[in-house]
Amino acid sequence: PVPADAPWLIGLNPEQHQAVTTTEGPVLVLSGAGTGKTRVLTSRLAQILAGRRAQPWQILAVTFTNKAAREMKDRVAHMVGPVAEQLWLGTFHSLCVRILRRHAEAVGLKSNFTILDADDQLRLLKQVMEAEHIDNKKWPAQSLMGAIQRWKDRGLTPDKIGADLAGDLAGGRAGQLYRLYQERLLTLNAADFGDLLLHCLTLFLSHPDALAHYQEQFRYILVDEYQDTNVAQYLWLRLLAQKHKNICCVGDDDQSIYSWRGAEVGNILKFERDFPGAAVVRLESNYRSTPHILAAASALIANNADRLGKTLRPGLKHEASEIEKVRVRGVWDGPEEARVVIEEIETLQRRGESAASMAILVRAGFQTREFEERLITTGIPYRVIGGPRFYERQEIRDALAYLRLINSPDDGLAFERIVNLPKRGLGDAALQAVHAVARARAFPLFEAARLLVETDELKPKPRGALSKFCDDVLRWRSLLDDLPHPELAEMVLDESGYVEMWKNDKTPEAPGRVENLKELVRALSDYENLQSFLEHVALVMENDQRDGVDKVTIMTLHGAKGLEFDNIFLPGWEEGVFPHQRAMDEGGNAGLEEERRLAYVGLTRARKRVLVTFAANRRIYNQWQSALPSRFLDELPAGHVEVQAERGLMGSWSQPAKPKGPGAWAIAPKERTSDFDVGERVFHQKFGGGTVLAVDGDKLEINFDKAGTKKVLDSFVEPA
Ligand code: ATP
Ligand code: MG
Repeated sequence: PVPADAPWLIGLNPEQHQAVTTTEGPVLVLSGAGTGKTRVLTSRLAQILAGRRAQPWQILAVTFTNKAAREMKDRVAHMVGPVAEQLWLGTFHSLCVRILRRHAEAVGLKSNFTILDADDQLRLLKQVMEAEHIDNKKWPAQSLMGAIQRWKDRGLTPDKIGADLAGDLAGGRAGQLYRLYQERLLTLNAADFGDLLLHCLTLFLSHPDALAHYQEQFRYILVDEYQDTNVAQYLWLRLLAQKHKNICCVGDDDQSIYSWRGAEVGNILKFERDFPGAAVVRLESNYRSTPHILAAASALIANNADRLGKTLRPGLKHEASEIEKVRVRGVWDGPEEARVVIEEIETLQRRGESAASMAILVRAGFQTREFEERLITTGIPYRVIGGPRFYERQEIRDALAYLRLINSPDDGLAFERIVNLPKRGLGDAALQAVHAVARARAFPLFEAARLLVETDELKPKPRGALSKFCDDVLRWRSLLDDLPHPELAEMVLDESGYVEMWKNDKTPEAPGRVENLKELVRALSDYENLQSFLEHVALVMENDQRDGVDKVTIMTLHGAKGLEFDNIFLPGWEEGVFPHQRAMDEGGNAGLEEERRLAYVGLTRARKRVLVTFAANRRIYNQWQSALPSRFLDELPAGHVEVQAERGLMGSWSQPAKPKGPGAWAIAPKERTSDFDVGERVFHQKFGGGTVLAVDGDKLEINFDKAGTKKVLDSFVEPA
């Protein structure tokens, strides 16, 4: 029995306490942001362990990111000690990999199978489509890839894809191509991301003994961010929970933001049906945000029609001095937005706030660049999470291909990527010959190459080069067990001539690439062996962030789920940026509602302060476009928001006199009239000389001598 004053039970409210101590039977916790759902899960882990209800390896806990898993493990370890290390705690993907490595043969893989990234997946699918003579202009591989991924999200293997599901995609042959793609993956001893779950399901359904083993093993199952599980993940959980039925899922339907990746909020409703008698706990106190932030987020999300609905009230007492309204600030353009945000960051830093307490949450990746540049020029350290990642850089991917090939010579994609990199004098003819042998013999490419160099099929020079390459790979592979893997990696990069290639390269990026390769070797030493490192690389979605420097975080709203920061910056609240144009075009009202949930996620990440910004002009593909303030701004309740008008260029912003209604935030129209007159000759940076046809506030219609009639902003025009 666990003492009532166990540290993880202290300070819980009665509902939280119930959710933590009801360890037996199914439990569903459904509540708003910041109500302590994740804390409940962590405390529950401690409760189960301390009560000796199960050994750590008999507990399965699922988090949304690897980082969240790490944090949860650390917290539990802090509460109950190092046994936490033995928990089965991770993302769906990492947990599935762990199971699959042991049972790979059961699904047609070997235990050292490779996990492909998006790039490799697409390349492979393209090859399959080419071999089947599918016109890639008419049927781009990307869209078929998307369909295959959605099928995998729903747990559908190729045999389940009938004409109704396949539709006319790829000329009605999508199902067949999916099957061929899966077959290719198996010959390469590789799995893509979606396969990890799918194969695991296949394993469970086709090997009752394996399923029974895990059903028996996992006495307790805990799931965070339950609203974003997809069908395959749900099936997986349901199967595993069948025996003991001690499953606790926590989630918030208002934070469901991954439907584009197959997440189904409906899983929340299914839970009560599939686990009858489940205890449903609702948490209503928000312990994260100030009342203003909470009120703003609640009012915003109330505009969604499709929600289960719930109450959310402030759970913490805040110092009056601490409470600031949500601030909204309109600026002229993107660079100014970045300047304003970074200035605010500097102001907060002077007031004693750490950089780590601040996060800029963007809707789309393209938005980060301007902030990054500004942060670099002002010398404020920052990290981009989920952005252009270290492991995605070209030289890193090449180096990884070498390591993958050594780890698993069946990895044909790795072979192809580096067999002639650096150039070894292997032309297309030689590579085609390798492919032909591989096809004819159903061999992996590497095996095929080894066979080929024993024959006279190739000309002496390529034959010699290929033969040496094969010998090298085998030699490196033979050192796997004897040489520490970072040393081996260094040796491989050296002896293959790969590092040399970049050292001789004269492009400005080359030195950075060589440094990156050094860093890669350093990174390897953090892992027990090559295999676990490669697994890590395949799984990590987060940026590399080991050093302890105080940094501002930049990330997407999607990536920020579950996190909290004292200070949140939400830039780009303009129609088309946020809500995102594509979401509205493709998803209609459902798409808009998902965007609104994303806005809700953004606001509720903040403990103390939120600054929302929007720009009146955006440069898109070198063209200036004027932007409309986001409709979400209109949905923020006036009493909890403070609007800051930009002086000078901007004219004035109308205050939200009417709390609702379109255009309450719009730029006051035609405050400022252009100094140009109709008939005047002007010069425009991009369009050249022209004559003013009409003046509309600060917008000009100009008949350009070369470019014809265009609408432009007067600030980009000079008198000729
Ligand atoms: P989200 O929906 O964003 O994932 P959540 O429901 O998981 O949020 P947590 O992250 O667990 O919420 O908790 C939010 C914050 O409130 C954390 O800082 C947590 O430590 C704190 N908190 C949770 N419960 C309590 C409590 N009973 N007393 C004080 N603070 C609490
Ligand atoms: Mg949480």
